[in-house]
Amino acid sequence: MEISEKVSCLIIGSGPAGYTAAIYASRAGLKPVLYQGIQPGGQLTITTEVENYPGYPEGIQGPEMMVHFEKQAARMGADIRYGLATQVDFTGPLHKVQIDEEKWIEAASVIISTGASAKWLGLESEQRLNGYGVSACAVCDGFFFKGKEVAIVGAGDTAAEEALYLSKICSRVHMIVRRGEMRASKIMQERVKNTANITLYWNSETEEILGDKKVEGVRIVNNQTAEKTTVPISAFFVAIGHQPNSAIFSPWIDMDEAGYIKTVAGSSRTNREGVFAAGDVQDKIYRQAVTAAGSGCMAALDAERYLSAAGFH
Ligand code: NDP
Repeated sequence: MEISEKVSCLIIGSGPAGYTAAIYASRAGLKPVLYQGIQPGGQLTITTEVENYPGYPEGIQGPEMMVHFEKQAARMGADIRYGLATQVDFTGPLHKVQIDEEKWIEAASVIISTGASAKWLGLESEQRLNGYGVSACAVCDGFFFKGKEVAIVGAGDTAAEEALYLSKICSRVHMIVRRGEMRASKIMQERVKNTANITLYWNSETEEILGDKKVEGVRIVNNQTAEKTTVPISAFFVAIGHQPNSAIFSPWIDMDEAGYIKTVAGSSRTNREGVFAAGDVQDKIYRQAVTAAGSGCMAALDAERYLSAAGFH
């Protein structure tokens, strides 16, 4: 393998975690190089308004906020590049990352902030109405449907948590569960079942989300009886799980069974010296822009300390 460039800090991914890591690493003099990946700006570029990121009293559009993150990182001196990490070799002590299946970069420290991607049902109507009432984040978008009827699909802890969250804001939550039972923990199931304004549809699947320019309803089909029900709603939330974008790291980095990178508690350290992880790729619990940004800061501080201690910096 031919190394075409050597850097002290390579950041992979351009969501709040990656850009925050870039801001801190730049200010610490690490001259970070950041590769943006397949979706520059990350998941926030597919949301609409963000009202829960501190510092924006009037709220802000997700894509615009990510432009701010990028500009701030660039102003601090981060070298931000369009490109995708396609392979890594973490044999160490220096780490090798391949970009766009072409060139290899050698990095003394690597910050993995590749995020996670929401899983979708795969319906045409879901794609068409995405951002117009279809959302994969109740905490981000639920508030816009205050007092309205909404639906949520999924039956894991995320779906249960989000259904409960929505039940406090919306007049009614129609929860669509594809089997006759839920996967969520017992306590969460009980809470969902005991919430008066959550209606459960067991053995049910979404056939189509209805509406021309915005969500107006959902057609649900019972997979036992084939009976169809149309429910008028204003928003449709998908909570069927996320997929962390960690596949290329799997031979080297410890992960849980779902592919989330394991970090040492209270830090961003992975099982490989000099490799750190931040944001949704290592967080299946909180998954918020502000927590991702916080962990990006941790990763840059950890990288800086590592590089100093190892005599690289
Ligand atoms: P899970 O993989 O646990 O659950 C996904 C759910 O979506 C399942 O109920 C599954 O149904 C359903 N589903 C999947 N595909 C479809 C589909 N095409 N149509 C309809 N339904 C579908 O994902 P979660 O995001 O809920 O949780 C991920 C992990 O994070 C879990 O380990 C969870 O415990 C954890 N978590 C913990 C929290 C906490 O501790 N506070 C909060 C949130 C998550 P089926 O059951 O039939 O397979």
